[in-house]
Amino acid sequence: MTETVPYASEVSIAASMRGGYKDYGSGEAAVRALNGINVDMARGVFTAIMGPSGSGKSTLLHTLAGLDRLTAGESSIAGTVITNLSEAQVTQVRRDLIGFVFQSFNLIPSLTAKENITLPIDIAGAKVDPAWFDEIIGILGLGDRLTHLPAQLSGGQQQRVAVARALVSRPQIIFADEPSGNLDARSGAELLGFMRRAVKEFGQTIVMVTHDPTAASYADRILFLADGVIVDEMREPTAEKVLDRMKQMGR
Ligand code: ADP
Ligand code: MG
Repeated sequence: MTETVPYASEVSIAASMRGGYKDYGSGEAAVRALNGINVDMARGVFTAIMGPSGSGKSTLLHTLAGLDRLTAGESSIAGTVITNLSEAQVTQVRRDLIGFVFQSFNLIPSLTAKENITLPIDIAGAKVDPAWFDEIIGILGLGDRLTHLPAQLSGGQQQRVAVARALVSRPQIIFADEPSGNLDARSGAELLGFMRRAVKEFGQTIVMVTHDPTAASYADRILFLADGVIVDEMREPTAEKVLDRMKQMGR
């Protein structure tokens, strides 16, 4: 069942897409969510993706991470083109290299917070690093919620469980769809500060969708998406610069 996927371990590009198109549906109902995307996510860089609702942000994240397939074009993870891999091989790549924070959390209702967090590691048959687990739980303030089921947690707490699950295996690349969207200002700032530190101190690669200029200002660069196209890029963003940019775009 385990097909081995060769990774190019020295590549400096963690994820990339060339000529990426994604269509949903067909005929009259067809929607082109991605309309020719060329992008490189360099290792050790924190990229934010911004754009209006429906501009293709989630689709871009899902197709970069191998959760969904492009209609045309190709995407690569750590130098491996994943577009033509089998489902089993793509799953293997995801398991080995990727952490994903879903916009809708995707927690398993029948598992406790702790069981949800360690699930990817348990499935891979690997061991949880207890010091790293404790550090993540401490930063995310989940210590007294570990035995709760998702239904017993607030939206913000469920989001933090989803973030912890993505971080606990120390993946090479973290994709996060609005990870601070349901958090209050303080826990949002703590989470974003932690993500920024992971990039600076451990060379973590992060790609994060957000609509919040303050959240985006934690990134090294921002890509602006509109109608499935990358229309602009900003380096070393500040919340103020992002706000100005959004006003120009008519939000
Ligand atoms: P964003 O995350 O920027 O809000 P999405 O990537 O979710 O945008 O969606 C981009 C476009 O694709 C939207 O028009 C949306 O309605 C459409 N879309 C997304 N997912 C699906 C799907 N599973 N089936 C049909 N259309 C979809
Ligand atoms: Mg979305």
